[in-house]
Amino acid sequence: MDALGLAGPLRRALGDHKVITDHQELRTYECDGLAHYKVTPALVVLAENTEDVATTVRSCAEHGIPFVARGSGTGLSGGALPRADGVLIVMSRMRRILEIDPGNQRAVVEPGVINLQLSREAQPTGYYYAPDPSSQQVCSIGGNVAENSGGAHCLKYGFTANHVTGVEFVTPAGDVVHIGGKAPDAPGYDLLGAVVGSEGTLGIATRATVRLTRSPEEVRTLLAGFPDTDQAGAAVSAIIGAGVIPAAIEMMDALAIEAAEAAVQCGYPAGAGAVLIVELDGPASEVAHQFDDVEGHCRANGAFEIRIAADDVERALFWKGRKSAFAAVGRISPDYIVQDGVIPRTSLPEVLRRISEISRDAGVRVANVFHAGDGNLHPLVLFDDANEGEADRAEEVSGAILDLCIQHGGSITGEHGVGSDKAKYMPRMFSDDDLDTMQLVRCAFDPTSISNPGKVFPTPRLCGEVPGRHRGPHPLVAAGKADLF
Ligand SMILES: Cc1cc2nc3c(=O)[nH]c(=O)nc-3n(C[C@H](O)[C@H](O)[C@H](O)COP(=O)(O)OP(=O)(O)OC[C@H]3O[C@@H](n4cnc5c(N)ncnc54)[C@H](O)[C@@H]3O)c2cc1C
Repeated sequence: MDALGLAGPLRRALGDHKVITDHQELRTYECDGLAHYKVTPALVVLAENTEDVATTVRSCAEHGIPFVARGSGTGLSGGALPRADGVLIVMSRMRRILEIDPGNQRAVVEPGVINLQLSREAQPTGYYYAPDPSSQQVCSIGGNVAENSGGAHCLKYGFTANHVTGVEFVTPAGDVVHIGGKAPDAPGYDLLGAVVGSEGTLGIATRATVRLTRSPEEVRTLLAGFPDTDQAGAAVSAIIGAGVIPAAIEMMDALAIEAAEAAVQCGYPAGAGAVLIVELDGPASEVAHQFDDVEGHCRANGAFEIRIAADDVERALFWKGRKSAFAAVGRISPDYIVQDGVIPRTSLPEVLRRISEISRDAGVRVANVFHAGDGNLHPLVLFDDANEGEADRAEEVSGAILDLCIQHGGSITGEHGVGSDKAKYMPRMFSDDDLDTMQLVRCAFDPTSISNPGKVFPTPRLCGEVPGRHRGPHPLVAAGKADLF
């Protein structure tokens, strides 16, 4: 049976209103935030509860049909890109906050819950959900779990992985399993560690138990204008080197500032080659003390204008430029690639200089807006698809930037995942043995590779195949440390 053949049985099992087969309606789901790649799925299931997901996955497993989970579709690496021969399981109807438990600092949510909605609901109890992707108004907690998403405040509070203590999970065989819970740690293998960040390749999260963080007594935010990115980068290293861990340090370069001004008139310091937004939070006395240090490091490294947000309205204005930056770039370029790579923080000045050389040599503009405290870059590679060859040049520049990240001891992705977009870059970062070992983990969950196949790994392999270049058994198998299924 093919994927479309599942429509009848699934309609009978789940109800007509949860299964889409109409071609026009299916096209709604043909891509995620990475709109270069488009594939119309054979069938869409709008899951409303765990049993809907498990029933759908069991049907897929029975007939060897691939499936892909989709949260809000804001992923920028094509992770939720459907398969033409597969089922897309959409989680956005599973959006109940099941429990807010301030006593244990936990919340239990369905995967389609929107990130910001959880903080809003928790606020009256004096808590919030700390990981805050810039897409937090729309992205889902399930998508955050799958991508191990980060955000501006993850410098101090850690990524999604640090905030998930349990999941209910549908395996690629359709079994519903519970990993972890409200307790901080559980015995046995760290399956939660494997599942968070697995980009939908190990199964589907149908419920998440997450940490809530106490709302800080005080928040203070500063905007500093620098002549160039070298000096702004040096200020970042100086602040953190001095032992201050701000809640966030974000940087934008001149082109990103230009785009943000064009879109939202955020009024950043005129003539700045770079701006930093630095936010401190915590007990009022500690924040006041550290804030003076931060200001001093900014001035010592060349800041020519420093503004301190007087109230929440001004703070929101500082953040408005930063938070709208990705979309704002659409004002200055018809097309762009949002890249995502990480470097050690101290390499920021050098890497930013190299990016501008790469951009100049290729004749492709690159705007930089990023989480400077983590060294988490988001170069926006601008192009016009209407001009012959520009898209290819932009793709080459993107690849060259990722190579640069690897050369500096960084990574090809920080928070946006590998998805379908960066699978081809994985061998630049990992050896064959590394990739084979990851495949062994994947195969332990998904022996027939039906859960989001073609993502993360450069070439999908089945578990029975001899992995990679190895003609004999895999070294881990030969050493008695692993089994092939
Ligand atoms: C403007 C903008 C700003 C962004 N800023 C940030 C940022 O600051 N930090 C950051 O980390 N990301 C950022 N992103 C990327 C994106 O928002 C995150 O990766 C987010 O976690 C994706 O969530 P989603 O619900 O949209 O997932 P989707 O895009 O729908 O899916 C993403 C991946 O997760 C899988 N998936 C979804 N739900 C489940 C589930 N329940 N179980 C298993 N797998 C699942 C999908 O198969 C896919 O592989 C940004 C995106 C945009 C458009």
